[in-house]
Amino acid sequence: MIQPAVVHYALEAMAVELREVAVPDIGDADVLLRVGAVSVCGSDVHQAYNTHSWPVNVPVVLGHEFAGTVASAGGRVRHFHEGDRVVCETAAEVCGECVLCRTGRYNLCPHRRGFGYGIDGAMAPYVRVPARCLHHIPGTLPFELACLAEPHAVAYNAMCVNSTVRPGDLVVVLGPGPIGLLCARMAALAGADPLIVAGRSADAPRLETATRLGATQTVDVDRDNLNEIVRGFDPLGADLVCDATGASGPLAAALSLARPGGQITKVGWSPDVVAIDVNPLVQKNVHLQGTFSHNYPVWERVIHLLDRRATLPDAIVGAALPLAGWREAFTAMHDGRVIKSVLVP
Ligand SMILES: [Zn+2]
Ligand SMILES: [Zn+2]
Repeated sequence: MIQPAVVHYALEAMAVELREVAVPDIGDADVLLRVGAVSVCGSDVHQAYNTHSWPVNVPVVLGHEFAGTVASAGGRVRHFHEGDRVVCETAAEVCGECVLCRTGRYNLCPHRRGFGYGIDGAMAPYVRVPARCLHHIPGTLPFELACLAEPHAVAYNAMCVNSTVRPGDLVVVLGPGPIGLLCARMAALAGADPLIVAGRSADAPRLETATRLGATQTVDVDRDNLNEIVRGFDPLGADLVCDATGASGPLAAALSLARPGGQITKVGWSPDVVAIDVNPLVQKNVHLQGTFSHNYPVWERVIHLLDRRATLPDAIVGAALPLAGWREAFTAMHDGRVIKSVLVP
């Protein structure tokens, strides 16, 4: 059987097209998933523009943020049956043997390969997934919102697992992209106040969304002095700076914004290599934390939050388009016209 799929086929800019590919066969421990909705990630857009910083196994079907219905299940699959509504984690392959896998931190397994860059993803009507990646979702959660579980899990892991946010903490989020906005929302739910979200002039619509999601103040760094604004709230600086810019340079700003004894959580990444004065890290005893991906308990939490609409997901989702509209879906995100595009294969 043949199906259309959005395929990233070469390591050059805009080497993405809608192609006919085979509907995958499944193994004993796999499920064939009928994709209900797949959201476009900033990383999909990076791959399409060839500005990504991770190895990609071309040709590969894009898409790692997805929800759908079990179409068929392999012989050793026990907990998922035809017709079950599910979302799928992104760690398509892990070794299962290393200490990280054995302690539930399989997102950090050195052998991890994810959907959409290492393994064929979900921008197609059908995708093959290992059953261990699945979570059931409630009937009250539509696929168009459920597919946002993955970026929610990134933000939850960044702000609620790898960082500590207490009510009344001064939190600054740099970069109002989809992940930055979701990080801001998680910080708001955790009680951050003041909660400052900073972006560029071109981010004006996204900064408006940040306010809807609970930011107490937004800052256009092209126009205003973020450092002065933060120190207007507390001369010592921020308890937590979340760097969700997807660039390396803003780490310098984060180091100057963090208070002595404060935290920096870096969630976005890029191929840039920059020279940064790291002395403030030492002098201020700052806790600098990377955060990558997510694991099972994080997914269970974000499915609940999404079902409760606690994260205001409707403020994030833009247009839902058919698979053939992938180019518009990608460019709308790249140009900042929508925060999150969704494809319905
Ligand atoms: Zn993603
Ligand atoms: Zn492992």
